[in-house]
Amino acid sequence: MEHQSKAVILRTSDYGEADRLVSFFADNFGKAKGVAKNAKRSNKRFGGGLEPGSIGRLRFAEKHGVELVRLEEFAVETPAWKVAASLEKLASLYIALEIAEKMLPPAFISLPRFKLLQRWIIFLAENEPSLIHRHAYLYKWLKLSGLEPVFDKCAACGRSASAVWRISASQGGIVCGNCRSFPGDKIIQENSLKYLKIFKFDKMPNNNSAEADEVFKFLIEHAIGNEVKSFAVAARL
Ligand SMILES: [Zn+2]
Repeated sequence: MEHQSKAVILRTSDYGEADRLVSFFADNFGKAKGVAKNAKRSNKRFGGGLEPGSIGRLRFAEKHGVELVRLEEFAVETPAWKVAASLEKLASLYIALEIAEKMLPPAFISLPRFKLLQRWIIFLAENEPSLIHRHAYLYKWLKLSGLEPVFDKCAACGRSASAVWRISASQGGIVCGNCRSFPGDKIIQENSLKYLKIFKFDKMPNNNSAEADEVFKFLIEHAIGNEVKSFAVAARL
């Protein structure tokens, strides 16, 4: 069965002599993996656009009972090189791609997350991202994944006042001083909490928060159950 989709390329690797193995996220298909035959030579079919972060029109064929699809053609609309103008842009792109690759279940359609990722890449192509932009993206991604973090009250008991707050990955947010502490929980400062609360209202905080960066990394790596390598790369910038 053949499909036509709008797709974001998530990851590519060499596959034999001339082929590429490509993981992509399609608007009407979800995440999938496939082989692009002769991709290294066929400029006509793939236009040199099979790079992580490229957005375009993808034509691919699916065969019943076969896990890998066959990529037929990719017409690039937003090439990934547009996001390569700075290391901050690249780091922000790779974090989003790696999280999508690791969090999306295969062949599960999620148009809201597709549109969010697409908007993020187009934003990165035209703007220099701040840490705040990246946090706003990660917050929305978690929310659309059914994992909106709770930052305005205790995620365990619902209490809204406490002398001390901890961030708990297993509870998906903050927990108060009266509730049980979980392994890996960390104390979080009042000003970081203030920063994190703002994203719920679709607004942007004014100041950066390095501690909030740790919080997003902590929550996302817990959701994935594994390390996100791009966070470590971004932290070294
Ligand atoms: Zn509590």
